[in-house]
Amino acid sequence: MSFDSPPDPLAPARETLRRVWGHGDFRGLQGPIVAEALAGRDVLAVLPTGGGKSVCYQVPSILRPGVGLVVSPLIALMTDQVEALRQQGVSAARLDSGVSLDERSRIWRMARERTLDLLYVSPEGLFSGAMLERLQEIDLALIAIDEAHCVSQWGHDFRPDYRALGRLAALFSGVPRMAVTATADPRTREDIVEALHLQGAEVFVDSFARPNLHLSAERKAAASRARTDARVVELVSERRGRSGVVYCGSREGTERLSEALEAAGVPALAYHAGMEAAERERRLARFLAEDAAVMVATIAFGMGVDKPDVRFVIHADPPSSLEAYWQEVGRAGRDGDPAEGITLYGPSDIAWSLRRLEGRPMEEAVRRVQARKARQLFTMLDGTTCRPQAVRRYFGESGAEPCGVCDLCLDPPSQRDATVEAQKVLAAVQRLGERFGRARVVDHLLGKGRDPQPWETSLSTWGIGTDVDIATWRDLIDHLLFEGLLVEAPNDGRPLITLGDPELVRAVYRGERRVETAHRAVAGIEAPRRRRRDALETLDADLRGRFEALRAWRRERAAEQHVPPYVIFQDRTLLEIAAAQPGSLGALSQVPGVGQNKLARYGKAVLKVLVP
Ligand code: ADP
Ligand code: ZN
Repeated sequence: MSFDSPPDPLAPARETLRRVWGHGDFRGLQGPIVAEALAGRDVLAVLPTGGGKSVCYQVPSILRPGVGLVVSPLIALMTDQVEALRQQGVSAARLDSGVSLDERSRIWRMARERTLDLLYVSPEGLFSGAMLERLQEIDLALIAIDEAHCVSQWGHDFRPDYRALGRLAALFSGVPRMAVTATADPRTREDIVEALHLQGAEVFVDSFARPNLHLSAERKAAASRARTDARVVELVSERRGRSGVVYCGSREGTERLSEALEAAGVPALAYHAGMEAAERERRLARFLAEDAAVMVATIAFGMGVDKPDVRFVIHADPPSSLEAYWQEVGRAGRDGDPAEGITLYGPSDIAWSLRRLEGRPMEEAVRRVQARKARQLFTMLDGTTCRPQAVRRYFGESGAEPCGVCDLCLDPPSQRDATVEAQKVLAAVQRLGERFGRARVVDHLLGKGRDPQPWETSLSTWGIGTDVDIATWRDLIDHLLFEGLLVEAPNDGRPLITLGDPELVRAVYRGERRVETAHRAVAGIEAPRRRRRDALETLDADLRGRFEALRAWRRERAAEQHVPPYVIFQDRTLLEIAAAQPGSLGALSQVPGVGQNKLARYGKAVLKVLVP
């Protein structure tokens, strides 16, 4: 005799996921995370970009009585999520400074009458006016804190206003809270749990693997801006017709590069925090609406930009840490289709990263951690370990295998143990009193010089490097800069090479730390590149025709409603429809990504596009 198995606590959640989103089942850790929230417990979820974080708090918000409060740092994110939810027939709203008084009272009325499922607010908004008092008058299903790594100064994007979110624990005791983020190393995770007072929270950390992401990095040809710009234009031109993001380190850079791209016939838009908010929004809307627009932006653009079909992210200037790197390249290919992340980097970039930290007010311990993060990023960029594998190890994921699709996996550079040469360089820099630039250091190693002085020729390091050629020494010095073993001090445009982190330097002297260099091509003068054909190019003509017809139809619907196309249907869903060629509403409803509301709203029109 058998007993009935206990009812599946996730059954109603699955039903909601199918009905509203049209997804067959939860993915990865979504199920257990949703279960925690449904049981009323606090939880921290670290899921990679595209991992489906929003479903984790949206489903319990719909199922639990009361409103799900979502704290999210950016208005753009809120607007998109709210629009996507409405398209799915979910009652959602956002409260920010742009919302009219009428609309506000309507939203609060819905909250009181329990006809609102999700309410989005910014951290500033939460603590201004009477927001907290009003929230205490209504029932909350849960509180979700998006981009939760912003609460930690160990993370890469600390926001002081996030600290105050810890107060929510006491203000709304009994309401389960869920912190979600795509990037948090183990230390940042601990800090999130502590700062937000997540009580006994289970911490879920998903694998950071992003198998559809093809990563690569190139050393910049020289500290020449013009050559870097030209390389970016070349990279983007090779990807014409696709949507992408180009990250620049400066506002001025975004303007310059977007003009260069426009001149090359690419629909490019500059975006940075120095622009008027209205102009920024206009550009964001254009980027979201156009299938092939390229956004050239500072990091002011990004967090929360959920465009799922971004096909490439190019760093014209490298990010600040591996966390930032992963998050930024992670904005490509959220829809799971193949996408690329390409990073250009040079020695002046790491020097700039380190200098910028010097100029910022922060505790010394924090500064040291941030400087280490910068070095770890450049070590990865200039290293020989599979890129995703290196990043995943950094995030504490053990057992990460090589990805097989990054530049280092596809085309492994020849590797060389350069520990002895590194010791020679470090010794030379030290003997020379850290008072010279790289050319002079190389000359010294080679025992060259127009008019060498006795004090120099009598040093033990004079001419100890004649067995190696000049190009190799230059290359090695760059590599040591990337690893933080050397540092370049600006010295009014005539940079001096000095010794880097003393602990690292000592470890190399003692032979405890090995230095490995890769022989690889420099940006722009690379060996023939492997061009990957992307999925779209390989589709057969009929399928592609149907897909394009559906996209054209979607573009019109989106324009009518002033929403981004993907909130109507994502590319992935249109492709599935084009492939399945459903002949009836019933068949269409079986296609992943077609929820009930969308079926009712667009089903007939979609069938008509397929059979005109
Ligand atoms: P994140 O915020 O973690 O980057 P999103 O919540 O934007 O991710 O989801 C990323 C993509 O995955 C979206 O296209 C979403 O529709 C899809 N998705 C999320 N959950 C599921 C699921 N259970 N099954 C299929 N697709 C899903
Ligand atoms: Zn790899």
